[in-house]
Amino acid sequence: MRQIVDLTVPVQVAENPDLLNQEILKKAGISSGENVLFRHLRRSIDARSRQVKINFQTEIFVDEAPGSRINWKKEFPHLTKRPQAIVVGAGPAGLFAAIRLIELGIKPIVLERGKDVRTRRRDLAAINKDHVVNPESNYCFGEGGAGTYSDGKLYTRSGKRGDIRRILEILVAHGATEEILVDAHPHIGTNKLPMVVQDLRNTVIEAGGEVRFDSKVTDLILEGDEMKGVVLSSGERIPGIGVILATGHSARDIFYLLHNKGIIVEAKPFALGVRVEHQQSLIDLLQYHCESRGDYLPAASYALVSQVPFQGVQRGVFSFCMCPGGFIVPAATAQEEIVVNGMSPSRRDSKFANSGIVVSVEKEEFKEFEKFGPLAGLEFQKKVERQAWIMGGQTQTAPAQRLADFVQKKSIFVFA
Ligand SMILES: Cc1cc2nc3c(=O)[nH]c(=O)nc-3n(C[C@H](O)[C@H](O)[C@H](O)COP(=O)(O)OP(=O)(O)OC[C@H]3O[C@@H](n4cnc5c(N)ncnc54)[C@H](O)[C@@H]3O)c2cc1C
Repeated sequence: MRQIVDLTVPVQVAENPDLLNQEILKKAGISSGENVLFRHLRRSIDARSRQVKINFQTEIFVDEAPGSRINWKKEFPHLTKRPQAIVVGAGPAGLFAAIRLIELGIKPIVLERGKDVRTRRRDLAAINKDHVVNPESNYCFGEGGAGTYSDGKLYTRSGKRGDIRRILEILVAHGATEEILVDAHPHIGTNKLPMVVQDLRNTVIEAGGEVRFDSKVTDLILEGDEMKGVVLSSGERIPGIGVILATGHSARDIFYLLHNKGIIVEAKPFALGVRVEHQQSLIDLLQYHCESRGDYLPAASYALVSQVPFQGVQRGVFSFCMCPGGFIVPAATAQEEIVVNGMSPSRRDSKFANSGIVVSVEKEEFKEFEKFGPLAGLEFQKKVERQAWIMGGQTQTAPAQRLADFVQKKSIFVFA
């Protein structure tokens, strides 16, 4: 027999499996725990009242073995002799596009400008220690893309992003913990992502696809309105029945390439801001209303949204990519620019929390770059990132100050 139970319990019960199982049985009206197996389907934290509560949705199996919770299967036909399509970029979008192509019986050729995920580490060390940014291998470029060092928060505010469960199952099939199928705010952790990324690469290769590193695409082979392949910086031409550009938002050169080739590029709205760092204990205190969160509760997070009057109009200011128990990393892709981002390990056990606090940017802000058409926003972004580099003493050390001073425009860190 199989039954599903919804239950809300205090943390003290949630952290004690025996107590929790007793409560689940009571709710299900089952008197004995013999031959009963429990499997959580959903888990979320409700910290709205002073007493933090945990919501569970749990499956109970009586005299029955639970089946696998993963429907996605790594079973594909071998593709060596199938038609090939090109995927540019081995970030999350590129790797998942390659897997979709395999599922459709098309051989993917994944071309990545950066290095494999292990070798890439040396370039990250060079950024942190020597302040040297390799434009082809950094926190954004290289196997796994920005996704490898992206904390691994796996939730979206949008409800229209397709079959999210399928994506989570593919990640579990490649080494991510099954907890991501259960938690309301799933998270993998930057220490675990490289292994997941490597395993995704193995799946592509085992199925007969190819993954090539140090392979920067610098031109497109166009036949009429169709893309029939790409050209690498080495001059090599690689044909394909189609090309998927999965180069992410940091590959400015690809936006310029498309624009220069007369391919329609549209500007999208974006937001710009700073990273704010606090003691994690402060966020825990505010969210959980207690001095210490103990072992069960994860490092607390927050999300802020506000409207702020600016030059007679309301502007949206909001927190973005909040990283509980994490750290701030230098995510520039060019030497003379500064970009910061946040990430956290799977245990989220750093003493600090950080988040982006950003403001929506309007077209009027970058009027001076009008001649760049839809790419004006990119020029504006470059200017701001370069100014940050100058203020940071022309190194990869980000300029920093107290938030209260920044808000009151007290120091030099104000873009004129
Ligand atoms: C530190 C950090 C923390 C983040 N935290 C989160 C988070 O927790 N959750 C979240 O959802 N998002 C997070 N993000 C954002 C997330 O990483 C990106 O949204 C995601 O990586 C985008 O995936 P993508 O595959 O589209 O692009 P990318 O990850 O940018 O991958 C693009 C790939 O294309 C390659 N490429 C580019 N140009 C070329 C070329 N010409 N030829 C060949 N290859 C090329 C690049 O080297 C790169 O590997 C974070 C980002 C950073 C940097």
